[in-house]
Amino acid sequence: MAAFFVTGTDTDAGKTAVTAGLLRAFARAGVPARAVKPVQTGCVERAHGLEAPDVEVWNKAGGEGKALYAFRLPCSPHLAARLEGARLDASSVAEACRASVAREGVTLFEGAGGLYVPLNERESMLDLMRELRFPALLVVANRLGCLNHALLSLDALERAGVRVAGMVLCRVSPPGLADAGTSPEAESLILQDNAVSLEREGEKRGVPLLADIPYQARHDPDDAGFWDALADRLQRAAFTLAGDGDEKNDAEALLAFDRAHLWHPYSSAMKPLPALEVTGAAGARLFLRDGRSLVDGMSSWWCRVHGYGNPRLVRALQRQAATLSHVMFGGLTHKPAVELCRRLLRLLPSGLEHVFLADSGSVAVEVAMKMALQFWQAAGREKKRRFVALRGAYHGDTLGAMSLCDPVTGMHALFSGALPEQIFVERPTCRFDRPYDPASFASMEATLRERADEVAAVVVEPVAQGAGGMWFYHPGYLRDLRALCDELGVLLIADEIATGFGRTGRMFACEWAGVSPDVMCVGKALTGGMMTLSAVAATRRVAEVISGADASRGGGAFMHGPTFMGNPLACVVACASVDELCASPWRDRVRHIQETLERELTPCRAFSGVTDVRVLGAIGVVEMASPVDVEAWQDFFVSRGAWIRPFGRTVYVMPPFVISDEELRMLTEAVRGAVASAASHGGTPVSDGREGEALC
Ligand code: PMP
Repeated sequence: MAAFFVTGTDTDAGKTAVTAGLLRAFARAGVPARAVKPVQTGCVERAHGLEAPDVEVWNKAGGEGKALYAFRLPCSPHLAARLEGARLDASSVAEACRASVAREGVTLFEGAGGLYVPLNERESMLDLMRELRFPALLVVANRLGCLNHALLSLDALERAGVRVAGMVLCRVSPPGLADAGTSPEAESLILQDNAVSLEREGEKRGVPLLADIPYQARHDPDDAGFWDALADRLQRAAFTLAGDGDEKNDAEALLAFDRAHLWHPYSSAMKPLPALEVTGAAGARLFLRDGRSLVDGMSSWWCRVHGYGNPRLVRALQRQAATLSHVMFGGLTHKPAVELCRRLLRLLPSGLEHVFLADSGSVAVEVAMKMALQFWQAAGREKKRRFVALRGAYHGDTLGAMSLCDPVTGMHALFSGALPEQIFVERPTCRFDRPYDPASFASMEATLRERADEVAAVVVEPVAQGAGGMWFYHPGYLRDLRALCDELGVLLIADEIATGFGRTGRMFACEWAGVSPDVMCVGKALTGGMMTLSAVAATRRVAEVISGADASRGGGAFMHGPTFMGNPLACVVACASVDELCASPWRDRVRHIQETLERELTPCRAFSGVTDVRVLGAIGVVEMASPVDVEAWQDFFVSRGAWIRPFGRTVYVMPPFVISDEELRMLTEAVRGAVASAASHGGTPVSDGREGEALC
C-alpha cells in the first residue's frame, strides 16, 4: 500500500495525463493502482450526476479512479466551492483522502493546479499535502521559465515537510508554439536544456527526474497506442514509485535498530519496551508508520499546547533557520532572545525582572538552585545551603533537580550518597477542590520555623504536582508559604515547568494564589513543545544581591552558561508560541476541556480499583488503588486510537488545547473503557480487539 500526491508547477502542467499514463504503466506491470481527485472543479452535469473530467481521462487510459469533492465551475477550488455554497478545509479533505487509500497497490492523489491554489481563504493545496504527508510527484510544465517554478515548488514542499519522490517534465505545447517570438530551434534548445538543468538541480536535492515527456498531440481516447507510448515514457517513474521505500522492510529494520541501540526514557537497553514509530503529527493527532493515527492525550509530556504543525511556529522556525540558527550568548545577543524576554516579562507574575535562558526543565531547576545558593553566599549567609521540597514533588532528572523529587518515587535510594540531601515536608493534604484547611500547612510551618537558618529556598510545583502523582492542592497553601518565606527570610522557587502557559486554567499556577515567587522556572510549553528551552526568572532583589556583593563572597557574576543558552531557533519559536497562546481563546478552551473531563471521567469513580478522579484545567486524573501495568494499559489505549501513557497509580490525560470535541471524547472513552475492563480483569485492561482508528 502506497499513496502519492501528484502535484504540478502550475495549472495545465500535465498532471492528469501523467496520472493516466502512470495508471496504465502500473496496470502493465501488474501493480494494482487507482487514482483519486481530492477536489475536482469544472465537472459536467450528466444524467447520472456530476462527471469529473480528470476521471474520464484516467478511464480512457484504462485506469480507474474517483473524485471526492466535485464542483461545476472550472476555477480554483475555493471559488468553485463557494459558488455552490460549500467550504473546503484541509483536514476534512485529508480525512476523505486517507479513507480512499487502497489497501493494496498504489493510490495516486491528483491535486488541483499548483501548490498555492486556495482550498479556502486560509488554506491551500499545500496545506492538504502537508496534512496528508504522502510523498509528492511534481509534474513540471516544460516551458520557458519552468526551472524557476520547479525549484520554487521544491523549496515550498521541503519547507512544508513533504518529501518529493520524483519529478516528471512534460511538454505542454506543440513545437513552435511554446513562446511567441522564439524560433523553433531556440525553443527546442531551451526545452532540452530544461531537462538537463532540472535533472542537475534535482540531484542536488535528492529528487530524481523520472521522465521527460515530449508533446503529445491531443489524445485519441480510443487509441490504445497513444496511452501505451505515454506509459512507456512513464515506466521508470512507475517502478520508482512502486518500489519507493519498501515500507514493511524499512519499518521493521528501523524498529530493530531502535531496539538494539537506542535507549528510551526510563527503560532497559537490553530488554526495551516496544515502541511505536511516529512518522508525523498534525493538530492533536500522531500518525504511525502503519497507517493508524492516535489522539495525543499526553501533549508529548505536557508541552504541545498548540498541538502539532502549528503554522505560526513552523514558519518562525523556518525563517530563523535561514538567518541565524545559533550563536554563543557570551558577549553576544540577538533579537529572538530579547523579544522572548520582553514577552515573558509582560506575562510573568509581577516582580520577576531578570531572565536566564537555559536548555531544559531540569537545567532550569539546577539554575534556580544555583541562584538561591549564590544569593545567600553573596548575602553573607553561607549556612543557608539546603532546600525544602514537598513529598510527591517532581523537578527533573539531573542530580540537583532529582534531589528535590519525592524520595520514594524519585528513586533516591538508587543514587544515595551522590544526591545532595534536602529537607522533605509532607505533601499538602488540602485538595484544590475543597475549602482550605490551614492545618495542612502545619508540617511546612514547623519545618521552616525550625530550620530556616540552613534553608536557601523552598521549591514547589505551585498548585499542581505533576510527575510525582498529579496531585492538586489548595492555593491557600501557597499563600501561606509565600508569607512564611518572607517572614523567615527563605526564598520561594516556583517550578512552573509543567503548569506554566495555561495548563491549570491560569497563565501560571501561582496566579491561583495571587503570589509571586522569588525565582520561577518555565519550560515545556514555553516553545509550544517544539524546541527544548527553559527560562529562569528572578526578582530584582535576587539579581541585585547575586550581582552586587563583593567578589570575595562569590558575588558579581552568576556562574552558569550553557553552550546553547538563548538558542535563537528556540527563542523565536517561544515568541511565536507565546503570541499564538495570547491570540487564542485559551482560557475558554481550557475551561471547556476541564468541563468535559469532569463530566466524562467522573463516572470512573464507580469502578473498583479507582480511588480518585480529579480535574484541574486541562488535566484529568484517574487514580488507581495500585500501580498499573503501563504496557498493558498503553496497548489498550492504542487499540482505542488514544495515546495515553500512565505511570505509577496515575492514569491521566493532558491534551493539547486545540483538541476537538470528538478527539477529546475518544480519550475519555478510552480511559473509561480501560478502567471498566481493568475492573473486570483483575486490574489490567484487556484489549477487546477493537482496532485503533485506521487511516485506510
Ligand atoms: N519540573 C517539572 C515540574 C516537570 O514536570 C519536569 C518534567 N516533567 C521538569 C521539571 C523537568 O523538565 P525536563 O524534562 O525538560 O528536564
